[in-house]
Amino acid sequence: MEHVTEAGARGASGVRGEAEVRGEADPLVALCRAAADPALGLVLAGEGNAAIAGPDGTLRVTASGARLADCDPSALVEVRPAELLPLLDGPPGSPPGDALDDASWAARLLACRVEGTSARPSVETALHAVVGEFCGAPLTLHTHPTALLGVLCSPAAEEFARRRLLPDQIVLTGTASCLVPYVDPGARLARAVRDAITAHRDEHGTAPSVVLLRNHGMIAAGSTPRGVLDATLMTVKAAAITAAAAALGGPRFMPQSEVDRIESRDDEHYRRMLLGVSAGQPPHGRPDPASAR
Ligand SMILES: [Zn+2]
Repeated sequence: MEHVTEAGARGASGVRGEAEVRGEADPLVALCRAAADPALGLVLAGEGNAAIAGPDGTLRVTASGARLADCDPSALVEVRPAELLPLLDGPPGSPPGDALDDASWAARLLACRVEGTSARPSVETALHAVVGEFCGAPLTLHTHPTALLGVLCSPAAEEFARRRLLPDQIVLTGTASCLVPYVDPGARLARAVRDAITAHRDEHGTAPSVVLLRNHGMIAAGSTPRGVLDATLMTVKAAAITAAAAALGGPRFMPQSEVDRIESRDDEHYRRMLLGVSAGQPPHGRPDPASAR
């Protein structure tokens, strides 16, 4: 956590780069290192990855196999998502539900790199591209939090995603999270996440700021490193409370009328803006990163 602060300096890609205040010029590097803090229990070894939108439609993403704790600018790969997303439904002209085989998808992943980039992008690159695009947020973090996986590997996952326990959970993560069944990582998972976010937007009228992946982990989306990390940590906190409440007879969720009340309060929208979280965003595509200023 010590790599990010609340100040409002801007990073290289236009996202509020609080990290600059403490000498870390790159907000994506700051986010990766902060998320790797062992005390948070979000990732271990090579788990997790993150991405940030560039000013010209590019996406910078952590390299395959990179440890978040060791992240530096040399461990980031720049790609062009526009060359990847149309392939989620398979090669042009293929039947609906088709998908590229693993070798073809890996080749496409390498081919979408910006010239001069040599490292291999994370296998979850398309996941970040989809969440950034369909949640309208320039910064995304994917982690495998231990406490959260206890819930996502249990029958409690659906209710956990759909309901809320705490007022600040609504402020940081919206009135509901998007839950995706277990799907093999890669193109198929990115497609499943895209379809789940679309369904969530249709149902709730807003894009989710948190996407939960059954038996896998989560992705948080936002406009600042601090906002993305806070949405992640609040989700983990709610999972820990869910488990603790289960031992005492089961969680009592907030009444939906009170959830809706928090969601509609102007002062809470103001807090969200200050916190840099994307909960409650209108269902548009990814904004120009400059708009996050
Ligand atoms: Zn993962």
